[in-house]
Amino acid sequence: MFVSDILGHKGSRVIAVTPDETLASAIATLSARRIGAVLVLDADKKLVGILSERDILHAVARRAAEALTLRVGEAMTTPVVTCDPDDTVEHVMELMTNGRFRHLPVVRRGDLLGVVSIGDVVKWRLDETRQEAEVLRQYIAT
Ligand code: AMP
Repeated sequence: MFVSDILGHKGSRVIAVTPDETLASAIATLSARRIGAVLVLDADKKLVGILSERDILHAVARRAAEALTLRVGEAMTTPVVTCDPDDTVEHVMELMTNGRFRHLPVVRRGDLLGVVSIGDVVKWRLDETRQEAEVLRQYIAT
């Protein structure tokens, strides 16, 4: 199974913020969209970072309430690890496990094609496991 299979189902919508937005503004986006991370795109729509709830937690630990006035560019993680639509889901699981993160932008030749989260990967794996079990059940029954 490939990253492109997941994107085929969930689509290529990407929720993004800019590096000069405040953390308060980025938090409002995360909350309104009910997501755990946003990509950070510059004025040319180039991927320059990723901001997850964990980065916000670190910023609050360092700066307390003042963290809300920091710019996204001061709290985001960069460089961003990305994957290709032709990568396997297993490869993506390895990247997430080794990197200890739960979000991977999908990029091909500089074009941002979507984001895969650990939730998408687990859902995909569950569906696949159920299908395999069903095939085995039918095989045993016949
Ligand atoms: P997450 O588990 O995805 O919420 O992120 C945990 C930490 O890893 C945060 O500091 C994120 O900014 C960072 N992070 C998340 N995804 C990526 C990625 N694809 N590349 C680099 N860092 C990331």
